[in-house]
Amino acid sequence: MDKGNLEARLAEVRERMAAAAQSAGRPVEQVRLVAASKTVAPSVMAEIAALGVTCFGENRVEEAEVKLPAVRELLGESAFRACCWCLIGHLQSRKAGRALEVFDQLHTVDSLHLAERLNRLAANRASPVPILLEVNTSGEATKFGLSAAGWPDDRQEAAALLTTVESILALPHLQVRGLMTVGPLVADPELARPAFRRLRFLRDALAERWPEHTWLELSMGMSDDYTVAIEEGSTMVRLGRALFGPRG
Ligand SMILES: *Cc1c(COP(=O)(O)O)cnc(C)c1O
Repeated sequence: MDKGNLEARLAEVRERMAAAAQSAGRPVEQVRLVAASKTVAPSVMAEIAALGVTCFGENRVEEAEVKLPAVRELLGESAFRACCWCLIGHLQSRKAGRALEVFDQLHTVDSLHLAERLNRLAANRASPVPILLEVNTSGEATKFGLSAAGWPDDRQEAAALLTTVESILALPHLQVRGLMTVGPLVADPELARPAFRRLRFLRDALAERWPEHTWLELSMGMSDDYTVAIEEGSTMVRLGRALFGPRG
């Protein structure tokens, strides 16, 4: 990739992030840029890291297992360690152990079954594994996540959600830090706003119910809708195409 292009795209993203934060009266430091690097070559990942991006999101365990050692080689150990490596794609329970080997944070914990398995596998760790709970805020059948499209009006859905969250919070080797969602696929980003707002409302409700836990993070917003997500309280935008250009 042309390095000038990468630098220009990053500058534009940073500018738009700042403008969106400002229009919502939020400090831009509250919003972390996560480079969604699926299909992106390790050399390009190292380039964007050299430009100051320190948080990466990968979708697949297998892909990360291959690419991260290559990025480590390019960046050197300390710069590699300074980066945060997040899983942002769906995680199958049978790959939970491998995911824990590769990633610092898991953004897509979407069932008690998966959480229990991760908790067992993390039992020997010095500190709990940071996770986000993935929530389906749009009701789209193709989306993963705990169902919350009807939050807060759908009482049955809400009861199921709260039961699951309570059980996950009780797992000692996981540390829930907040929520993640993938916005609905819509032509106009404005149409994704209700889903982002729902995630924030849900987070606020969970924080009120379980104040002893951390609920800081809202991982929401992608290339087409991140400014709207920031206006609705996003703390982590996951950007692929806006940084790297169209995926091949
Ligand atoms: C691919 C992906 C992104 C980034 O998507 P873009 O539209 O390229 O910004 C963010 N989050 C998840 C979960 C993804 O799979």
